[in-house]
Amino acid sequence: MSGLLCIALHDVAPATWDACRRWLDQLDALEASAPTLLLVPDFHGRGGFVQAPAIVDELQRRAAAGAELAQHGLLHQDRAPSPRTPAQWLRRRVLTAGEGEFAALDGPAAARALAQGRALLAQSGLHVRGFVPPAWLASAAARAAIREVGYAWTSDHRALYDLPRALRVPAPVLAASPRSGWRRAASRVWLGAALRATHAAPIVRVGLHPADVEYPALLRAWRTVLRALLDRRTAVTKQEALQMHPAALHEVHA
Ligand SMILES: [Zn+2]
Repeated sequence: MSGLLCIALHDVAPATWDACRRWLDQLDALEASAPTLLLVPDFHGRGGFVQAPAIVDELQRRAAAGAELAQHGLLHQDRAPSPRTPAQWLRRRVLTAGEGEFAALDGPAAARALAQGRALLAQSGLHVRGFVPPAWLASAAARAAIREVGYAWTSDHRALYDLPRALRVPAPVLAASPRSGWRRAASRVWLGAALRATHAAPIVRVGLHPADVEYPALLRAWRTVLRALLDRRTAVTKQEALQMHPAALHEVHA
């Protein structure tokens, strides 16, 4: 084995559960252990886990068996005031389809959303130590709020962050974009290229999305990539990756 692999299933919520369930079955079939399950406390305002005790049971069972539960936004919807510049519009409405909930929040609004989301999960018996902003986007004020609220770790599209130790650990992420046909075709090509490009990286992350399982060709591409990664890397949670990673590769927070 050489290197670590962190597998994350994004956007886990009662509203997306059928697709999440299918992804979890796929991961079980691949014997992919220690996935991180990114829980959205109130997905698009459609209600949380408190109304879905069977899903909570399943998540707790998986956590007891080595999965890691983390918080992923509050609503997973960008409800901040409309983008004002073309660059903001491109980032918040086109690249992220209006899902970058923490992209434009100020500090107090971010702190409120973080606390509300964590409380909603805790009410359902789901306890989290890490936080991943939707679409990996967080304003500078939101990043400061994430540090101050007391999470153990966070991530963006380039790195994992150990917050108590103020460490940044580079970790490239492989993800697909299933929102349109051309994106899916491009994603299949890109996944293969990214697999080769990250061959020597000490930690590689994989970001799976519920919608990926709806497209058989994309799912096949994912299975090939996951098998190749699992053949040569040890699957660990993000918390474990941060604990195991050689200190020499740590960089102090900028
Ligand atoms: Zn997400």
